[in-house]
Amino acid sequence: MATIGKALVIGAGIGGLTTAAGLLRQGIEAEVFEARPSPGRLLSGGGFMLWHNAFLSLRRIGLDQAVAADSVRMRFHEFRSDTGKRLARWKLDGPTEKCEAPACALRRSSLHKVLTEAVGDHRIRLGARMTGYTQDADGVTAHFADGSTARGDVLIGADGLRSTVRATMRRGFEPPPRYAGYTAWQAITRLPGESLVPTGTFFNLWGKGGLRFLYCRLNENEVYWDAITSDRAAARIDTVQHTRGAALAAAYDQWPDPVGRIIASTEEEAILPVAIHDRPPGGGWSQGRVVLIGDAAHPMTLNLSQGAGQAIESGVVLADMLGRGERAAVPETLRRFEAARRERSADMVSTSWRIGTLGLVHSALLSRLRDLMMYAFFDSVAKGQSYGLMLDGRLERAPLPVAAGRSGLGAG
Ligand SMILES: Cc1cc2nc3c(=O)[nH]c(=O)nc-3n(C[C@H](O)[C@H](O)[C@H](O)COP(=O)(O)OP(=O)(O)OC[C@H]3O[C@@H](n4cnc5c(N)ncnc54)[C@H](O)[C@@H]3O)c2cc1C
Repeated sequence: MATIGKALVIGAGIGGLTTAAGLLRQGIEAEVFEARPSPGRLLSGGGFMLWHNAFLSLRRIGLDQAVAADSVRMRFHEFRSDTGKRLARWKLDGPTEKCEAPACALRRSSLHKVLTEAVGDHRIRLGARMTGYTQDADGVTAHFADGSTARGDVLIGADGLRSTVRATMRRGFEPPPRYAGYTAWQAITRLPGESLVPTGTFFNLWGKGGLRFLYCRLNENEVYWDAITSDRAAARIDTVQHTRGAALAAAYDQWPDPVGRIIASTEEEAILPVAIHDRPPGGGWSQGRVVLIGDAAHPMTLNLSQGAGQAIESGVVLADMLGRGERAAVPETLRRFEAARRERSADMVSTSWRIGTLGLVHSALLSRLRDLMMYAFFDSVAKGQSYGLMLDGRLERAPLPVAAGRSGLGAG
């Protein structure tokens, strides 16, 4: 039986690098093509939550420990109102011990660094923008903006929300991503002070007027935050007359400590607004020897903190299936991959979207009702549903020493 010799991976994001690392582990040569010209630009981006399921998948390619080592373990997920009232507090130690994998916060760049090292710089071609592909019975050829081409047995489109591979697969007939109606202003700020932002808790504040605010400590000195503003709220955030920091500080001026202090401590250039999009769940991820993965296949809103987690899961499953598959049977393997992953990722996309709509509430009365609902159900029903979705039993579970974490921060 002829095994797969070479895979072309388009995009050096989390999905592409995870898949490449998994393929190399399976003995399949992988070359990654990235449109961005420099590693520095690739490493940009703020903080990040990786839940237990992501670590369980990373373990299957031997990278969980390295990622955990540069992360801070989360012990609580706390929900509050914009008056500071605690609505729910999930203890994460129980699930961490049960599934033997942590939930962690980390810098996006830390994850990229581990994945890049696993793949090897020499296998990542920067400044290589794919413009299209052609395929025949024997293989697939990727075409790049500089006129060069590359040939492989399989092409993996890990090129994100506005994927060129996806557009090529659909011959240009592709609706744009679905806008969620809100923007996430994300940043990392230098803000020491355990009493201000305690290590090991992921805070999730829900307010009226279409505003939310998430934050957690990344290490002794740094805090990651996301201000999520609905379009109606954002209309009042005047970044023409004011800096981003000043405009957000005004929008959140009635919010409880430390929200104001977190915003005030942040450098203007560190605040990056991202309009949140996804795609309604749907199939058609593969065509012959070409397949989509990560945000190119199943982009989702940020509400479950699972977009990267799902990209990692998909990458590990795909690498495993290709490692066991025959070269001639690549199209069939890719169809089976989609069948294996479609339902789970669709559940994530839909649930994440629904949670996001709860944040679009504007009136004080409806916000109060939402608070009551969260107070009544989030510690029990919502936590159960969230974990049911996250750890659905389809993932392999092997022992992981969970004490890993930078300087023991947040470790139990
Ligand atoms: C504000 C915010 C917060 C988030 N927080 C979390 C979180 O806490 N936890 C979580 O799990 N997820 C989170 N996500 C989601 C997560 O960021 C994404 O799901 C994840 O980055 C998707 O990875 P990817 O590799 O599929 O795509 P991307 O990260 O978008 O990578 C795609 C890569 O392909 C390259 N590329 C694009 N076009 C081409 C081309 N034509 N040729 C070559 N290369 C190309 C791009 O330059 C890029 O490097 C968050 C998202 C946002 C917006």
